[in-house]
Amino acid sequence: MYKIENHLVSDATRAYAHLDEAGYQAMYRQSLEQPEQFWAEQAKRFLTWEQPWSKVHESDLSQGQAAWFIDGKLNVSVNCIDRHLPSRGEQTAIIWEGDEPTDDARISYRELHEKVCRLANVLKARGVKKGDRVCLYMPMIPEAAYAMLACARIGAVHSVVFGGFSPDALRDRILDADCQVVITADEGVRGSKKVPLKQNVEKALKDCPNVHSVVTVQRTGADIPWHEHRDLWYHDAIAGVSADCAAEPMDSEDPLFILYTSGSTGKPKGVLHTTGGYLLGAAMTHHYVFDYHEGETYWCTADIGWITGHSYIVYGPLCNGATTLMFEGVPTYPDASRCWQVVDKHKVNIFYTAPTAIRALMAKGDEYVTSASRTSLRLLGSVGEPINPEAWEWYFHVVGDSRCPIVDTWWQTETGAIMITPLPGATNLKPGSATRPFFGVEPALVDPEGNELEGPASGNLIIKRSWPSQIRTVYGDHQRLIDTYFSAYKGVYFTGDGARRDEDGYYWITGRVDDVLNVSGHRIGTAEVESALVLHDAVAEAAVVGCPHDIKGQAIYAFVMPMHDIEPSDALVAELKAFVAEQVGAFARPEFIQWTPGLPKTRSGKIMRRILRKIACDELDTLGDTSTLADPSVVDELIAQRLNRA
Ligand code: ATP
Ligand code: MG
Repeated sequence: MYKIENHLVSDATRAYAHLDEAGYQAMYRQSLEQPEQFWAEQAKRFLTWEQPWSKVHESDLSQGQAAWFIDGKLNVSVNCIDRHLPSRGEQTAIIWEGDEPTDDARISYRELHEKVCRLANVLKARGVKKGDRVCLYMPMIPEAAYAMLACARIGAVHSVVFGGFSPDALRDRILDADCQVVITADEGVRGSKKVPLKQNVEKALKDCPNVHSVVTVQRTGADIPWHEHRDLWYHDAIAGVSADCAAEPMDSEDPLFILYTSGSTGKPKGVLHTTGGYLLGAAMTHHYVFDYHEGETYWCTADIGWITGHSYIVYGPLCNGATTLMFEGVPTYPDASRCWQVVDKHKVNIFYTAPTAIRALMAKGDEYVTSASRTSLRLLGSVGEPINPEAWEWYFHVVGDSRCPIVDTWWQTETGAIMITPLPGATNLKPGSATRPFFGVEPALVDPEGNELEGPASGNLIIKRSWPSQIRTVYGDHQRLIDTYFSAYKGVYFTGDGARRDEDGYYWITGRVDDVLNVSGHRIGTAEVESALVLHDAVAEAAVVGCPHDIKGQAIYAFVMPMHDIEPSDALVAELKAFVAEQVGAFARPEFIQWTPGLPKTRSGKIMRRILRKIACDELDTLGDTSTLADPSVVDELIAQRLNRA
């Protein structure tokens, strides 16, 4: 049976790190025992305030209410740019790596200031005021970061919509947030393919009468539809305005942005984050979790259309005066060595990506990794889904040359910042575990009735107290916030995820609570069975769901993607079933194994099990919201090949 091996903090990592185990313990204890003092110290240390707060914190979680640094005033763009100018004006703020390996740029903090001020002035000239919503539908180009910061500078609320979304999905989000301005590009470029962004905006805006201005960045020079009075070119507009723009003093609780969740479990929610608490959460976790040191180059591969891009490409790193890398392309273009080529080219020290990318690159073979030196790498990170131990070990040994600790960071759009995570100098690692809570985070496990479970246990993951970067509301629907997160259990935040806590107090995220399998009375997390399947040499990726079973209550239905050189067969199905039984237990033996060339994923790369569950249960008329699927055609194929038919 596969045994998970612990990885102890190395002497080199401990010596370099901001915190060791004793440091973590002391700070964690203080964060829970003297929260007012703890958070006041951190807010002074990480942020620059124009006016101090009168009260650190107030919350009533039963109403989904929380406020942090009450009456405090600050501006996010000042914290991310202006305050760095005296000491690091010429330092690179953003390294941009284009889709083509020959295309890159470096933007200093001084240039960033100029660009952000100009765009802020353009928005002001179009009548955008504090509190107005601006939609960003952008490729991964520096102007996307300028646009976020320009909104923050004048107090406008940005709503970034991932550039891979369809015109309809874009329209729904523009309408939901009632955006009146859209910032976009003529086209995006990803893996040498063009994405018709401005054309999509055009289609979306047919049903959005309130949008009065569209600012378009010229990325490719393609022919695009144009409306004389509504549309303006970014480059023309910024040329005609001042390079200075006074920053709007914002209340700590003024909204900073709206961002829609990935839609893995249902209709996306417009998560609203505010100013002071969010920025503190992003900056502090960036500092401690990635153990960021002055002068290092940090690369998060997420898209700015997701929370990871917000907190860990833009706000966290820039608030800390870091050099952050922004990548326009995809990990497999021109070939699967691209990430490691980029690491070598820009001497990246810290690399943060998602399990979906790790599994995809792992399936391509080690040579793509080992052909690059990767000697600059010091720390690796993972986020978005549970990472199965086999992929973790590959990431550790092959990508990190057994030298770089991995921070498996659990968090959500709603949490704003990382919540459960190792700290490199403090935490011994267990592959597949997000390990321990970050400062101020008080997680707990409860049974379905809400009874808190002690010691080693499995249950539903809740957070027992408010933290600074928590969601403030679901935009326009506070009741949905209460219903979704604060009603299942009174007075606490319900994450929607299941987890196991082991004898060392480490947390293992087992998957979505809605996806938990109950086979003959055994509660099994999806992550456990999927990890076992992926462990087999023939399997590249797997997703499991439950389907009704007369005797067991539920049976396990597995969707399995074979490795590229594997020919699926009945013998292999039998072998996989036996393999899972051996790894996890006989009760976890899959009833059905369906081969598939791909899995339905959200556009942020997460497996959408709710659709697979419908297919496995043969309930095809109620597939639910599929607008956030990356490739809807996989679903048709899966339906056609389904095994459990009435
Ligand atoms: P929706 O809320 O619309 O269903 P979503 O939950 O996928 O979409 P996100 O906020 O992007 O949207 O994702 C957060 C979820 O991702 C977490 O609740 C958890 O299920 C999963 N997740 C994130 N990081 C990790 C991790 N390190 N380990 C395990 N799961 C993770
Ligand atoms: Mg979610």
